[in-house]
Amino acid sequence: MLKSNDPGLKSWVHVPKGSDFPIQNLPFGIFKTKYLSPVAGVAIGDYVVDLVYLHENSYLDGLGLPAGIFNQKYLNDFFALGKKKVRDVRERLSELLRDSNDEMNKAAREIALIHMDEVQMMMPVKVQNYSDFYSSEEHATNVGSMFRDPKNALLPNWKHIPVGYHGRASSIVVSGTAIHRPKGQIKSPDQELPTFSASKKLDFELEVAFITCGETKLGESISTKAADDFIVGFVLFNDWSARDIQQWEYVPLGPFLAKNFASTISPWVVTMDALEPFRVEGPQQVPQVLPYLAFEGKKNFDIVLEVALKPEGSEETVVCRSNFKYMYWNVNQQLAHHTVNGCNIQVADMYASGTISGPSPGSYGSMLELSWNGQKPLQMPDGTERIFINDGDTVVMRGHAERDGVRIGFGNCKGKILPATH
Ligand code: MN
Repeated sequence: MLKSNDPGLKSWVHVPKGSDFPIQNLPFGIFKTKYLSPVAGVAIGDYVVDLVYLHENSYLDGLGLPAGIFNQKYLNDFFALGKKKVRDVRERLSELLRDSNDEMNKAAREIALIHMDEVQMMMPVKVQNYSDFYSSEEHATNVGSMFRDPKNALLPNWKHIPVGYHGRASSIVVSGTAIHRPKGQIKSPDQELPTFSASKKLDFELEVAFITCGETKLGESISTKAADDFIVGFVLFNDWSARDIQQWEYVPLGPFLAKNFASTISPWVVTMDALEPFRVEGPQQVPQVLPYLAFEGKKNFDIVLEVALKPEGSEETVVCRSNFKYMYWNVNQQLAHHTVNGCNIQVADMYASGTISGPSPGSYGSMLELSWNGQKPLQMPDGTERIFINDGDTVVMRGHAERDGVRIGFGNCKGKILPATH
């Protein structure tokens, strides 16, 4: 076990009960303040620790970090140092922030710690490439049942291939960024010709994405075993989807404009290291997978997930409670599959899981499934109903793993829907 994951550790920083960011988490992010341009930081309790300050004042000496590595608007160069180096930094931060450690005096602590109320979180990485999988059996079954045949809901390839598609990196935005309702071509089955309008079926997809910290050469593959060394951490991921645009465009090449107008991520990269204590077995895979997809050990993670919907001027209501552990295909299999043909990966690629639905209706990870394509409207606290997302609605995703009194959380992944532009 990594020393930093010891449930007994306490910090000299006050961590409120129920906080996503105890000393056992220490996720990395990029923040700015009124006085600071974007730099790297680590979350603990209600504070952000300024890594530039720690680095420049010799608290991270001996780790072999290049000058200026944290004084950047993205974590790409830091993650490019590799998983081992990121681990060393997190271990050192854990040591510095422990209640028994007095290396930082009162003045240093006051300068290094900035209250979260005073920071604005930015995109943690410049996303190089983004791919989206479709790895929840429950989600694929629900969608297949609604649009094809409940008896043959899964397509024949689904239990053999971690199905995915290449998404768009440029429109991935950080939590808090407002999104305009997308416009596009729409044609319902009873219409003869398509029309052009704002989407009437705007949806969220509850997903978790992993970020890579290494790169491979064209022609190389990553095994399921080696995949752990290439995955630095995770963020929550809302893959906003326009179902009406999707339905008309998706055959034969899959999602395009229905998905690429925006995706929202949580700002803190929770390391795979911090999530090690929360590994669990995934669902049994039958039929047996091809050898390149076989794996050993626990590759799923027990991360409780929820989605809340907040109508304009009203309270939020939780519409979905799910768990990352339901994923049929795990992240190691996804990365092994993605590279088995020799596709090269880059530092700060993002790979989303696909909508994470669980077995019960309350655990479905999209409005499409929750309202069963409009047949079961959801009741909002302000008395209104929802089939899909209205203008003015805010969608908030949250996630955390919890065991032995330690809660490793992600913070919010939040986005408000504005009317379509004219
Ligand atoms: Mn998706």
